[in-house]
Amino acid sequence: MTQAIANETTSATFKALKCKECGEEYELKASHVCEFCFGPLEVTYDYNALRRTVTRETIQAGPNSIWRYRPFLPVATDNPIDVGTGMTPLVRSNRLARRLGLKKLYIKNDAVNMPTMSFKDRVVSVALTRARELGFTTVSCASTGNLANSTAAIAAHAGLDCCVFIPADLEAGKILGTLIYNPTLMAVQGNYDQVNRLCSEVANTHGWGFVNINLRPYYSEGSKTLGYEVAEQLGWELPDHIVAPLASGSLFTKIYKGFREFVDVGLVPDKDVRFSGAQAEGCSPIAQAYQEERDFIKPVKPNTIAKSLAIGNPADGVYAIDIARKTNGSIQSVNDAEIIDGIKLLAETEGIFTETAGGTTIAVLKKLVEAGKIDPDETTVVYITGNGLKTQEAVQGYVGEPLTIEAKLDSFERALERSRTLDRLDWQQVLV
Ligand SMILES: *Cc1c(COP(=O)(O)O)cnc(C)c1O
Repeated sequence: MTQAIANETTSATFKALKCKECGEEYELKASHVCEFCFGPLEVTYDYNALRRTVTRETIQAGPNSIWRYRPFLPVATDNPIDVGTGMTPLVRSNRLARRLGLKKLYIKNDAVNMPTMSFKDRVVSVALTRARELGFTTVSCASTGNLANSTAAIAAHAGLDCCVFIPADLEAGKILGTLIYNPTLMAVQGNYDQVNRLCSEVANTHGWGFVNINLRPYYSEGSKTLGYEVAEQLGWELPDHIVAPLASGSLFTKIYKGFREFVDVGLVPDKDVRFSGAQAEGCSPIAQAYQEERDFIKPVKPNTIAKSLAIGNPADGVYAIDIARKTNGSIQSVNDAEIIDGIKLLAETEGIFTETAGGTTIAVLKKLVEAGKIDPDETTVVYITGNGLKTQEAVQGYVGEPLTIEAKLDSFERALERSRTLDRLDWQQVLV
């Protein structure tokens, strides 16, 4: 009886799939496009039920993972796949903030998310929980790298068969970091957009659960937890400004949805949050459309070291632009050299080693400050979404060399002296 009531209340929170364009509603199956207008489908909830049942206290009494927000996520079970994903640190920045001239800067550090060190663990935990509910036994994805790591790892944990697709030219760390979980890994000779097209065909013929294709409406909701956590970690308040990276644009739009939902159900006071987005110049279809004030995306062929962001035809690009515009934010791009500088700047000032996506975001943050688009007094949150140990190629040759010495004190003293005279400027900076 208690069980039946619990199931009733939990399954009541998510209601339908609804077309973002024409509003047509569908039952909660594995489907992502509207049959009438081809618009994307999104999960809707019973917000009255959420208002009645969810409080700050019920959330705080939940697990130390994304599943503390389970009523806001599109799964019916009380027993989701919980591998400790989420509740990553929100770090108050001192040294980076000072370097940039900001007073209240926070870093949301998903470079240490579990289990695979990127924000993708959030979306995959939700997608695979839902996949299991819908009866899928094989799960799959079209990935720019991190998604493959995450899908393979969490499928292994859940005992689901897994076949993932990546562009063949990914970083070694992302390939090995997928293979270690022993999925079937298809390295496609083509870019992400070609991988994605192939996967759409496989999804139609094989009856697999593709986390970011036929399960996309459920998957993408996982990114809302990046909004919820920041609100909770700021003491149940929204920031003034957020800066986040854009590949498909999904993450960006879902942080927005997460903030709005928390306001709507009364968990945080209302506030106008400005949304700014970051892309790599070598793949910046969203930033280009934003700068040219277009309402449509012109697909591009990616050519950048920021491979995790290299989606040339981004599904949620227009929605991301809409949010940046209506919140008085901005969408900017930076080149590969600036991305490397961004990675180094975050590492040297905060002790956080991020991948190219994080380098892109930090470089855009810097650019926004320099252009006067961030007020120093604004509470600003920058989202770091992936770990630098996975994209070491990007900074190879830009980080100096170790000083090789003999195991003798005088050899050490000589090397120390040499390093100080050769590199006096750098050394002085370190001492400051
Ligand atoms: C996938 C990814 C993103 C962007 O995600 P979208 O939701 O497609 O915009 C950002 N950062 C990292 C590290 C990623 O792997």
